[in-house]
Amino acid sequence: MEKKKDQLPRLDKAQRDIVMLGIATAAILLFVGIGGTVMPQVAQHWVDSSVAPPDTALVNALLLNIALIIFGWRRYSDLRKEIDQRREAEEKAKRLSQLDPLTGCFNRRSATEKLMNAIAGEGLAHRYAGFVMIDLDGFKEINDTNGHQAGDEVLLSIADRLREVAPEGASVARLGGDEFAVILQISDTDLEVVESWVSVMIAKIALPIETEMGPLNVTISAGVAVHDVGKQVANLEGAARKLMHRADLAMYQAKKDGRNRYCWFDTAMEVEARLRREMEAAIRKGLERGEFSPHYEQQVDLETGQLVGFEMLARWTSADLGPVSPDIFIPVAENCGLIGALSESLIGRALEDAKSWDKSLSLSVNISPMQLRDPWFPQKLLKLLLASEFPPARLDVEISESCLQENLSAVQTMIVSLKNLGVRVSLDDFGTGFATLTQLRTLPFDRVKIDRSFVGELRKVAEAASEGAIDREQHDHIVSTLVSLGKGLHIPVTAEGIEDASILETLRSMGEMKGQGYLYGKPEDAAAVLKRLAQLNMLSEPSVANTEDDQRKSA
Ligand code: C2E
Ligand code: CA
Ligand code: CA
Repeated sequence: MEKKKDQLPRLDKAQRDIVMLGIATAAILLFVGIGGTVMPQVAQHWVDSSVAPPDTALVNALLLNIALIIFGWRRYSDLRKEIDQRREAEEKAKRLSQLDPLTGCFNRRSATEKLMNAIAGEGLAHRYAGFVMIDLDGFKEINDTNGHQAGDEVLLSIADRLREVAPEGASVARLGGDEFAVILQISDTDLEVVESWVSVMIAKIALPIETEMGPLNVTISAGVAVHDVGKQVANLEGAARKLMHRADLAMYQAKKDGRNRYCWFDTAMEVEARLRREMEAAIRKGLERGEFSPHYEQQVDLETGQLVGFEMLARWTSADLGPVSPDIFIPVAENCGLIGALSESLIGRALEDAKSWDKSLSLSVNISPMQLRDPWFPQKLLKLLLASEFPPARLDVEISESCLQENLSAVQTMIVSLKNLGVRVSLDDFGTGFATLTQLRTLPFDRVKIDRSFVGELRKVAEAASEGAIDREQHDHIVSTLVSLGKGLHIPVTAEGIEDASILETLRSMGEMKGQGYLYGKPEDAAAVLKRLAQLNMLSEPSVANTEDDQRKSA
């Protein structure tokens, strides 16, 4: 609106200026006409006063003409100046509209244009148009812990470093947030030059960045995709978008592979992305249709063999895809933001199911890193607990060790909030990598669960011991290290993935602990659990009554 208001009078003025130019031209013509007769008369009158002076009206008209010419000329030169200024302003506005205001890099729109030009083979003679998608690793944490000023400084210096290392003919763009891109014009037929250039770029960016909060270490993940300029494309913009999407997929792969690296685009990534989209749609439908159900895996006291609780594990039999493993659908649900809804519905059902179990039995549930990041998660859990009237002390929330990689203080806050509800918190997948001793000491876990990948290896230990190759009691295996770590920290231990009696025997030699695994049976549905508990006489009282009722009825 502002702009329009501003423009209208200027346009008016310009139009008036053109009228003025017309008037000045007319005045000149008149001047020539009138001046031709009047000037000689004036001159003659000056030389010889006897000669009659020219008509006053004509002299006035002549003077008016002169004034008009001067005025018209001034307006004309003003107009010229204004047009120049306006052209300059327009060029500046155009330049600004192409640039990212913070870093001065090209913005997303002009990056697309640059890429379209590169694909069309414009600019330097080149064989390939390349697009490098760049995303900072953990930029949110940098912003959260060091403030936005330091965040801006990081973005600025990344932009500077990218411009410094960019090869001839390349354009550096900031696509938004912490996403950058480099558009390359590659003349070599050998794409190895791109590889070495990207490696240099990654190494250069990984050098410490000076900020007001002191030096910060930032890394990037990059995805590279190229287009053969020799290939004709019908739709340039479509081709540019496709290339950008491909580089994006490759960048995600680099993130998945562990960040601080680059990845080339591969057509398998497109196939995977399509499958993921299809699975996302299937999960959405599955949630509506109630296709997900909780299954339960027994947890046992290894010493007594007594059943002490169950771990709830999600199961999905999709109408479209058939049975899908949680190792596949949980990450997809996490990626598309459905994990919260899925998990809450399953936990709600599990709490209802567990109400009919004996009061000594606990229920363990797995929660994903996404839920750990949700500050409302403890409230949501409390709501579920209240709705089911399930005692919080019997609920155990399992947090995977991989979550500790993330913002540790946020994880700590979440654990404390959960414990304030009265629920217990366990460290799942213990030993798979990231927990340090300090973290274990500062985080108030109630239990650690040794990952099944280590427990499974105990079979080899058992075999070696039976062959007399080693002494089982003396042999240092990672599991025994983890068990002593737990003991040292006074945190009880659960071993998962106990598949056979030999593993069980080895574990029992390591001391007191709980365990779970296929040796005790595969995870089973709620009905099977009820049957099992009825046999063990481990149903809560009302359920026992119900079962007796049912039995009487069926008899
Ligand atoms: P997890 O928490 O480590 O769960 C244990 C996994 O080990 C389960 O696989 C279980 O079926 C399997 N397992 C149990 N005993 C044995 C054994 O003796 N040998 C072997 N080889 N495997 C055994 P499942 O059900 O396929 O679950 C895989 C992972 O999916 C779980 O690993 C957990 O991280 C995740 N998950 C499952 N349900 C949920 C859920 O409701 N929410 C979240 N966030 N994650 C879930
Ligand atoms: Ca678990
Ligand atoms: Ca585990």
